[in-house]
Amino acid sequence: MAVPKRKTSPSKRNMRRSHDSLKPVNFQECSNCGELHLPHNLCTGCGHYNGREVLPVEA
Ligand SMILES: [Zn+2]
Repeated sequence: MAVPKRKTSPSKRNMRRSHDSLKPVNFQECSNCGELHLPHNLCTGCGHYNGREVLPVEA
């Protein structure tokens, strides 16, 4: 089994962890109903995408 030769220094450990933080989720307003949805994703409120109804909404 491969074993590291030296203990990772706090500096190197923190450099590795500098990319670990989570970014806030980016929401966009639907152009049809105004509900928030994820960019490049279908609106869950009205089923529209790019100004067009893609998925009919069940009543
Ligand atoms: Zn919508």
